[in-house]
Formats: sequence, C-alpha cells, structure tokens
Amino acid sequence: MDCIFCRIAAGEVPAEKVYEDDRVVAFRDINPQAPVHVLLIPRTHVESVARLEDPGLAAHLLQKAAEVARSLDLEKKGYRLVINHGPLAGQSVFHLHIHILGGRPLSWPPG
Ligand code: 5GP
Ligand code: ZN
Repeated sequence: MDCIFCRIAAGEVPAEKVYEDDRVVAFRDINPQAPVHVLLIPRTHVESVARLEDPGLAAHLLQKAAEVARSLDLEKKGYRLVINHGPLAGQSVFHLHIHILGGRPLSWPPG
C-alpha cells in the first residue's frame, strides 16, 4: 500500500517531527494553515476516524494531541484539534490524522 503518512511514520519520507512514540507520530504540515499546524497520526494505518476501533489508541491520540499542543506553547493561547472525515469534509489523506492548529485567532464556525 502506498500511503504517504505510513511512509512518514516509517521514516521513509522526511517530515519535521515534533513528537513520536511507539504508537503515534506528530509532524509539521507541509502546507500550514496557521503559524502552528501539526499533524498527529497513529503509526498503524487507520483510514479515518470512522475506522478507529482501538479505544486505547483513540485515547492515546487525544491525550498526545493535548500534550503536543502544550509542548508547542499553545495551551495558554488556545488551539484547535480537527479531524476531517470523507470528501465533503476535505479529507485528502486517507490515514487518520488530527490537525493541531494554533498561533492565530481561529474563527468559528469553520469553513
Ligand atoms: P486532510 O485534508 O486530509 O484533513 O489533511 C491532510 C493534510 O496533510 C493537509 O493539511 C496537507 O497539507 C498535509 N500533507 C499532505 N501530504 C503531506 C506530506 O507529504 N507531508 C506533510 N508534512 N504534510 C502533508
Ligand atoms: Zn497509512
């Protein structure tokens, strides 16, 4: 399977990693939409949040998203976590990822 995020997780494609452990990897988005724009992914290939069946992994992802945001100095300023599922929501890479966005005011509702 040719999945760009699997390849980043495996270290076969370079990325600016900001955190990694045995289950997840966080790296800067190649096309940032905010001063801080990081993607947090599971190392295992999960197509989208709709296919996330491991509650332990789900909890780990959420906890690490908050921890990575804190490590990037976003906790006081505020940040947003986004998961796009499917074409109408703009999912373009079919390996689950949590966007961690911050460093500027974020409007609501999102586009
Ligand atoms: P989606 O639209 O699926 O929610 O988000 C996919 C994100 O992955 C986009 O923000 C896009 O810029 C980012 N992206 C796509 N390919 C690469 C890549 O090869 N490296 C990095 N660092 N980010 C990527
Ligand atoms: Zn993958």
